[in-house]
Amino acid sequence: MKNDQCIFCKIAAGEIPSKTIYEDDEFRVILDLGPATKGHALILPKEHYANLYELPEETAKKVICLAKKMASVMTEKLHADGFNLVQNNGEVAGQTVFHFHMHLIPRYKGDGQTIGWKPGKPSDEELEAIRKAISE
Ligand code: 5GP
Ligand code: ZN
Repeated sequence: MKNDQCIFCKIAAGEIPSKTIYEDDEFRVILDLGPATKGHALILPKEHYANLYELPEETAKKVICLAKKMASVMTEKLHADGFNLVQNNGEVAGQTVFHFHMHLIPRYKGDGQTIGWKPGKPSDEELEAIRKAISE
């Protein structure tokens, strides 16, 4: 299903031009207009899913396989030194476009980017309570 209000639906469908680096029946991979590093790209499913929660399992499997392939090709062609896969869900997590997408971010020594978090210092009790909440 497409969403008339969604810019990534229009880009994925080819209705809005983009710098496409890969396309098949289900996905388009485009260069990000505000790249973190040289070659920063986005995997877009052609169907509209707002986020990871809505993504069907079969599509999720294909996304990770495509991410792996793209990471290898991009690392080789762009002479990258490493690679980040980033995928944001919800405004609080930094999502700004509400059509599922996976960021492909080639990394270069000295690129000056930081993709990370401030590590917390939970006690063993806190970790145990979280473990229980998730898995019991
Ligand atoms: P998010 O913050 O939702 O995880 O990532 C959205 C990404 O989409 C950002 O990195 C932003 O630069 C990129 N972006 C937003 N609008 C457009 C657009 O129209 N074209 C392209 N190629 N990238 C876009
Ligand atoms: Zn969409």
